[in-house]
Amino acid sequence: MIALHSHPSGRHFLQIPGPTNVPDRVLRAIDNATIDHRGPEFGVLGKSVLAGMKKVFKTEADVVIYPSSGTGAWEAALVNTLSPGDLVLMVETGHFATLWKKMAVKLGLRVEFLEGDWRHGIDAAQIHARLTADKAHEIKAVCAVHNETATGVTSNIAALRQAMDDSGHPALFMVDTISSLGSMDYRHDEWGVDVTVAGSQKGLMLPPGLSFNAISAKALAASGTAALRRSYWDWKEMLAINPSGYFPYTPATNLLYGLHEALEMLFAEGLDHVFARHRRYGEATREAARAWGLDILCKNPDEYSSVLTAVVMPDGHSADAFRKVVLRHFDMSLGQGLSKLSDKVFRIGHLGDMNDLTLCGTLAGVEMGLGIAGVPHRKGGAQAAMDHLAQSSMAALAQAA
Ligand SMILES: *Cc1c(COP(=O)(O)O)cnc(C)c1O
Repeated sequence: MIALHSHPSGRHFLQIPGPTNVPDRVLRAIDNATIDHRGPEFGVLGKSVLAGMKKVFKTEADVVIYPSSGTGAWEAALVNTLSPGDLVLMVETGHFATLWKKMAVKLGLRVEFLEGDWRHGIDAAQIHARLTADKAHEIKAVCAVHNETATGVTSNIAALRQAMDDSGHPALFMVDTISSLGSMDYRHDEWGVDVTVAGSQKGLMLPPGLSFNAISAKALAASGTAALRRSYWDWKEMLAINPSGYFPYTPATNLLYGLHEALEMLFAEGLDHVFARHRRYGEATREAARAWGLDILCKNPDEYSSVLTAVVMPDGHSADAFRKVVLRHFDMSLGQGLSKLSDKVFRIGHLGDMNDLTLCGTLAGVEMGLGIAGVPHRKGGAQAAMDHLAQSSMAALAQAA
């Protein structure tokens, strides 16, 4: 076999829904000498990134930063707020919700896992009904994944909050925004979320290695009596020292340089513009899928993700074989189908450090790959996306004028 890309020219297209392409500015920021994490310079950096993350979470409450993958922040959310045997309500939106549930079980929690078909978000009415039925308030927390990265389906967090309020139930509300924060609108305070979980390598445009909790006053109060064992993840030591910009153990100094830079980029563009940009990429990608005649996994248009689109492979065709073709011929990585969806879907990541032409290149690569792999489809998806991008760009400029 000819190694087509043993020395590829140009950039690899990392179009998986995280880790995402890291902007040059962020890479350059990371490429600075590591400083004393107890020295005076560090305190300034620490304070700045903690304040910046509050803006991204849209919260006045506490935020902590861990040197870990997102999975660590999942664990932190649970072990800081709950006790062995506590009942937690979770919903099977897809692979990531299932992993979080498995973790909760391993930690000694009881989990009620509402079944899902991996094509819909969380039904707020179902949560309302379950909480209303729980007269004894046995359920201690409701956990939701905002953007299910395995499926490209979002859940309406504001509607879930409303359902919880309407039921008058006191459960904590925990939300995984690992693949949505910094790409889709999210409001920790306004939506009354108690613990928001996030990670560095998706919308925040950083390499993997940082994770976050935003913590409501109610969650903080719960941590005072929560009896699950915790040490590394304990909020207490973090929150005691964070106000001075320092950490209880060695932080990921160079990733924090990157975070500082990424936050500057997000704020310079403006979060609302960042969200609008991602919405356009979602729309354009779905236009492409429709033109190809391929099925979008997400069934409910109100729940489409701005961050990724999972496309269903026609019966009898392998999504993984197709992805291999795209990687070999065009040096582009697409997301694979996870667990139940293995080999059945491919996922187009359209988040993070991208512009219109990055998306055009991505969709052109998909379309050429479909042809080479012999996947039945109609041509013209990339063109349909280009039309959408051009039209919406003209409309936006006309509106600004
Ligand atoms: C990526 C992701 C995770 C897992 O994060 P890691 O950094 O791989 O530990 C969890 N939840 C969602 C929604 C994700 O997208």
